[in-house]
Amino acid sequence: MPGGRRIAAVTDAHFDVSAGECLALIGESGCGKSVLASALLGLLPSNAQSAGQARLGELDLLTADERTLTRTVRGRLIGLIPQSPAAHLTPVRTVRSQLEETVGALTDARGRTAVRAAAESAAERAAFPADHLDRHPHQLSGGLAQRAATALALVGDAPLLLADEPTTGLDRDLVDHTVDELRRHVDDGDRALLMITHDLAAAERIADRVAVMYAGRIVELADADVFFGPPGPRHPYSRGLLQALPERAFTPIPGMPPELGDLPDGCAFAPRCEQATAACAALPPTTSHIACHHPHVPENLNA
Ligand code: SF4
Repeated sequence: MPGGRRIAAVTDAHFDVSAGECLALIGESGCGKSVLASALLGLLPSNAQSAGQARLGELDLLTADERTLTRTVRGRLIGLIPQSPAAHLTPVRTVRSQLEETVGALTDARGRTAVRAAAESAAERAAFPADHLDRHPHQLSGGLAQRAATALALVGDAPLLLADEPTTGLDRDLVDHTVDELRRHVDDGDRALLMITHDLAAAERIADRVAVMYAGRIVELADADVFFGPPGPRHPYSRGLLQALPERAFTPIPGMPPELGDLPDGCAFAPRCEQATAACAALPPTTSHIACHHPHVPENLNA
């Protein structure tokens, strides 16, 4: 960064996601979720550095060169369902034309009839109505723009779908509809879905597992039914996120997230945490998928 400052946008992120599974990566805006997604796609800015491994099959996404990322990864191994699909679509071209161009770039379909059929098939798989294919993005509702972007992500038949805040700006009914559609692509069994979101209701509806990110670190990784169910999450930040929901206690977490460029030495959540003790001045180890010195112990384990 300017002035030689270094910012650890994502640190010690460990997770996996399998075919037929959805992992929801949740956390407040600015916690590093989208940076992580950009790293997987090789789309970090040129001044960024990454370390470690991100394996997709035999390929390490973090060390793959640009040619491999362009020819093998983007669209073919990872289908990106973007935030703000309306902005992602080219405004001056119809959905059909954008789908056909993507089919031409990512598949073996050749010839006008085959390309057209493949584009219509991708639209159908994303539940995008055939009679809207000749419309421009500005003629689509938010939900249909979302489906058009999903259709583009499905063209290459990628084994990993990466959905970056796919429900931003949609009303609740459309959110439910969108995540149900995404879930359908996972339930086909061949694809994994990594969904980045700050929408806990959407995560609860779609995810098999949940990873919670705070200040650039994954602080908890849990099965979704445990996380959202009676046992509940164990990390104080995760518990605070759930308690902030209107349908629960509607009690916000006090304070603000720290600046990633000015993190404390110990637990970054300590200034906002009611359970903080002197031990929290040291960085908590990540054990049992929870990075906390004093994780919540469910009552049935306390007994
Ligand atoms: S390590 Fe300490 S400050 Fe951090 S979340 Fe756990 S109890 Fe709170």
